[in-house]
Amino acid sequence: MTERLYLDDAYLRSFTATVTALDDERGVLLDRTSFYPTGGGQPHDTGVLRWDGAEAPVVEVRTVDGEVWHRIDGSAPSAGTAVDGELDWDRRHQLMRTHTAMHILCGVIWNEWGKAVTGGNMEPLTGRMDFEFDPLPDEFALRVSQLVNAEIDADRPIEVFELARAEALADDDLIRTKVNLIPDSVTEIRVVDIVGLDKQADGGTHVRSTGEVGRFEVTKTESKGKGNKRVRIRIT
Ligand SMILES: [Zn+2]
Repeated sequence: MTERLYLDDAYLRSFTATVTALDDERGVLLDRTSFYPTGGGQPHDTGVLRWDGAEAPVVEVRTVDGEVWHRIDGSAPSAGTAVDGELDWDRRHQLMRTHTAMHILCGVIWNEWGKAVTGGNMEPLTGRMDFEFDPLPDEFALRVSQLVNAEIDADRPIEVFELARAEALADDDLIRTKVNLIPDSVTEIRVVDIVGLDKQADGGTHVRSTGEVGRFEVTKTESKGKGNKRVRIRIT
């Protein structure tokens, strides 16, 4: 299985690896990577692979059967080649800020209104999340923006660690965020904890503290049916 370097260090921008397989459709398989593959609502990274004086842009990264495949533009390095990988850091860091903002939003909405999130997706600096509101509270966009920005100003640390499955299932915060839906085969659960605000089982990349997110704003709210309200956000 590809070693996922971003799980231990979300700030790792470049790395060395070895090509372990090639596929016309999937692209280049590496023994280790810091490229994040699309999943959990977070889009894939982009960047570049370099080897033996050649280079090729990485245009898509995805997981197939637990392996991380890098689709590149141009001719590929052959199997066994040592490559240097480098992320498009601007894009990745924007995604880390956006992803973290969405956790803050979940925590704030749970604490203030007791409503759970039902889904979400993000792009660099924008995102949407659906919550079980019916209807939305008065002045919702303004109130939630103030609450989220207050948590950003508090500069809460964000810790990432692994918990044994049984321990994770005994944690009320993790149960609320549906840790029980993770397949039984996963025995170690990766937890992302915005200390004192929001704790979730999560495989994505996040910033180190809430202060790094920037400014948060709700740009639009929409009803997606009874008990389902969509909140669109922007980070600046
Ligand atoms: Zn996350």
